[in-house]
Amino acid sequence: MRKKGDLPTKDCASCGRPFAWRKKWERVWDEVRYCSDRCRAEAKRGKDAADAPGRS
Ligand SMILES: [Zn+2]
Repeated sequence: MRKKGDLPTKDCASCGRPFAWRKKWERVWDEVRYCSDRCRAEAKRGKDAADAPGRS
């Protein structure tokens, strides 16, 4: 049960900070893992670096 006006939140998988639901995520909220495009890019870059060191 949620209070009226409350939005769902998640913890960002990159920076670990909680972030709240946004309108732009209404269709993909279950898949959202990062608070921002920046964090998503950071996480992706980190993964890529681990998979293929030296690659930019
Ligand atoms: Zn984040």
